[in-house]
Amino acid sequence: MEIYEQETKLYKSLMHPARLAILDLLREGEACVCHMEATFEYRQAYISQQLMVLRDAGLVEDRRDGLNIYYRVIRSEIFDVLDAMRKVTGIRTKAAKPKRNACTCPNCVGESVKPQLIQI
Ligand SMILES: [Zn+2]
Repeated sequence: MEIYEQETKLYKSLMHPARLAILDLLREGEACVCHMEATFEYRQAYISQQLMVLRDAGLVEDRRDGLNIYYRVIRSEIFDVLDAMRKVTGIRTKAAKPKRNACTCPNCVGESVKPQLIQI
């Protein structure tokens, strides 16, 4: 039964709307916690709690860069699982984005700076 318990832990890690949304966001690459905060408008503690579950399940890992903590998916096979599940549900999702100027992470600030440079 132990082998099924390991499997169940993995399945359980997927059984939460916020965690599915986080995985969809991380499908596009790593993202910092502040980016998820700005995107989902959840408190940081809540997001960290959800990320902890995904990390315990071996799906994501974190990396600190200065004040930012970035998360990325280390088992990209999980996206095949989600895709297979969505064939059953017929639900299509796409990664959420933060409201304009809501996020100050290097990725978002970098993006908003680009068009200004083009204008100059
Ligand atoms: Zn951001």
